[in-house]
Amino acid sequence: MLSLHAARELHHVNAAQLAAALPQWRPFGRDERDDVIRAVQRWLGGNRAQYDTWQQAWNAWAGATPERAGLVTVPRTRCPDCGGRRYRLRHGRPGVCVTCLNGVRPVRTTALWQPEPACGRATAAPPPEQSTPQLPAVGDRVKVTGVLPDDPSPLEVGDEGTVTWLGPGMGITQIGVCWDSGRTLMLLATDPFTIVSDHQ
Ligand SMILES: [Zn+2]
Repeated sequence: MLSLHAARELHHVNAAQLAAALPQWRPFGRDERDDVIRAVQRWLGGNRAQYDTWQQAWNAWAGATPERAGLVTVPRTRCPDCGGRRYRLRHGRPGVCVTCLNGVRPVRTTALWQPEPACGRATAAPPPEQSTPQLPAVGDRVKVTGVLPDDPSPLEVGDEGTVTWLGPGMGITQIGVCWDSGRTLMLLATDPFTIVSDHQ
């Protein structure tokens, strides 16, 4: 069963964050970021454990602790030397890419432990793409009003928490919530929840 919370969050992890987490892997750009995300997603797909945040999943995937970096192997989907074109220009002439000829090897590198975001510390959030009347603001209280779909470890109906960030997702606004229960699962704008009035 895919760990949906971590899988959702992974889509937001950018190349700069991963470059910092994989300090020995240079150059590190968008292709490298995509390969790493793919590797973690694949690993999540075969894993029964439930991870609330991408950092939890990352640390488990890498086998990293605060004291000790982990070692990971990431398959490459695109040749880093020729960008997948299979030839390189040498003195203005195209020549076969030797890296492709020899087979693009997976990257084996150290992966640093990632601290989990602490609850109660609201971070500056990127504004949502489109603001919908139903969307809460950072600092608002929200309450789960229905069963979250397709979720192996769902929040309970009635769970309440404080919104810590909002961000555009895969076409759906994501809502970061610090739940009173201590969990840090995000909501999607389409999930069943309500904004709890400050005056109640
Ligand atoms: Zn190549």
